[in-house]
Amino acid sequence: MKPLSVSRATRALCALASAVALLDGRALAAQGPAKATATKATGGAQWLTRPERTDFAETSRYDEVIAYMKQMAAVNPNIHLTTYGYTTEGRPLPLAVIGAPGATAAQVLATNKTRVYIQGNIHAGEVEGKEALLWLLRSIAKGERNAWLKTTVLLINPIYNADGNERVAVTNRGSQAGPVGGMGTRENALGLDLNRDGTKMETAEARSMASLLTRYQPHVAMDLHTTDGSSTSGFNMTYETSLNPNNSKAQMSLLRDVLLPEITKNVKAKHGSDWFYYGGVSGTGDQRAWRSDAELAKPRYTSTYYGVRNILGLLTETYSYASFKTRITETYWFLEESLGYVASHGETVRDVVAKANAESIIGQQLAVRQQLVKAPALQKIVFAPTISVRNPYVADRPYRLRPDGLGDANVTSEMLPFYGTAEPTETTLAPRAWVVPMTAAPTAAAAPAPAPGGVGGTRGGAAGTPTQRMMATVIDRLEAHGIRYSVTTADQPFSGDRFKIATNTLETREYQGTHKGRTLTGAWEATEQTLPAGSLVIPMDQPLARLTFILMDPRSDDGFMWWNLLDAVLGQSPAPAYFPVLRSMNAVR
Ligand SMILES: [Zn+2]
Repeated sequence: MKPLSVSRATRALCALASAVALLDGRALAAQGPAKATATKATGGAQWLTRPERTDFAETSRYDEVIAYMKQMAAVNPNIHLTTYGYTTEGRPLPLAVIGAPGATAAQVLATNKTRVYIQGNIHAGEVEGKEALLWLLRSIAKGERNAWLKTTVLLINPIYNADGNERVAVTNRGSQAGPVGGMGTRENALGLDLNRDGTKMETAEARSMASLLTRYQPHVAMDLHTTDGSSTSGFNMTYETSLNPNNSKAQMSLLRDVLLPEITKNVKAKHGSDWFYYGGVSGTGDQRAWRSDAELAKPRYTSTYYGVRNILGLLTETYSYASFKTRITETYWFLEESLGYVASHGETVRDVVAKANAESIIGQQLAVRQQLVKAPALQKIVFAPTISVRNPYVADRPYRLRPDGLGDANVTSEMLPFYGTAEPTETTLAPRAWVVPMTAAPTAAAAPAPAPGGVGGTRGGAAGTPTQRMMATVIDRLEAHGIRYSVTTADQPFSGDRFKIATNTLETREYQGTHKGRTLTGAWEATEQTLPAGSLVIPMDQPLARLTFILMDPRSDDGFMWWNLLDAVLGQSPAPAYFPVLRSMNAVR
């Protein structure tokens, strides 16, 4: 305990000293040549992040991240700080806004520049994104990135899972190569994985993020991770786009055919580092291949959530057996290269997003389930050995390390098939509107249905009929996502389709709290009925139509139904004969 409190005192002193130095620097900036200011203000120990001060043994805590952001904002007036939401435990989620006259969404949108949102630390044991973003803020504070800011506004939160970040233990990340002084937890304060909350919008953190996306409308968004580590890959950095087959084709092509190949080539030329798509080698013989993960097609995953919102979404996964320093460094290179690309191709980026937002998907057959497919060409996969290193602070559990500085000495390579994109295995019609009829009274024999699942889920929508309770939950989630809807004010005729349920099953195992994934089979059939006043109408002629389709369709593998959000009705006994949501190719108002 004693050394810890000493180091806290030292840090407090450092902060004080840095505030004095900053004031110094600003006074100088007003009087003297800029160069002298930069040297004065950006030199010295107070500019070092916690990993740099501890020889990469430790990672920054929440208060340090906030203090560092304030320090950078104090030295460079282009950096504006705000709060865009709160964690479960009420920690303000910080946002650095750079490249606009202020931090509000209105000020950012008025610039008409390309908007890029980047979040680190969604899994708070995977801390290199947080640290790389602090390095990036430092570089911006020093004035090294002014060229980007002519065309681009950056929206940066280094510490998304801030509650998890504070739950430090030296044992938190198994065989990951540090930081040996400990790191936070994967989950948030409720034990929920924020990277599974893209569709169900259950956590304060995800709801804050979705609100940010709705208000600031980024064109590009990045979510920074480290792999759990399972192969002997030689890639210190892997990346992924949204894998949902319903994404805008032009957006996927810009990312996969242009941006990622270009930055991969650049980083190889500049730093000698090999990068590739996220995944690993599996299978033997003819089946041996580098495979991504088909699960990543589901927008519960944050980077895929970006994609189905028509944002150019990127996931990074550094290699967990690369040293902590290397992981921060390569994440920093990724930010540097990708932001460099976006800044110099702003018009292309903005155009492809505007077109995806304007493009109608009404009447198309879209994917509700998918599988990975093999790319036409073999790909060069690199491998490098790791060694076992005794962990000085964890008994009997060495960690794996790919030592730094070996260069290409031990690297081998193999040409392998690559399963890196997903194609539909089942499609269905994207209608013009989804409708949730407000049925007049509870079914006579209906037993009370369990409230929607999840931690603390029993509190949701306790009053009213099953339909009223379900509708309250649906409206809550639509608003969390920023999806436009309306409620009818008079009875009206409805012509469209209803889904007759054949089977209605729940997973046996609980997932993400108390959720038990629900799956329906059945078939759509034509229906004419009277739609009572108070019914919910969700039109598909809106920019979030791709997301809306996945949330509302009864066969979707990542919709409201799967996540038990319609269980007030679907969980009744006896089970309802029809899915409680209708669809129509007609406009419903
Ligand atoms: Zn992760």
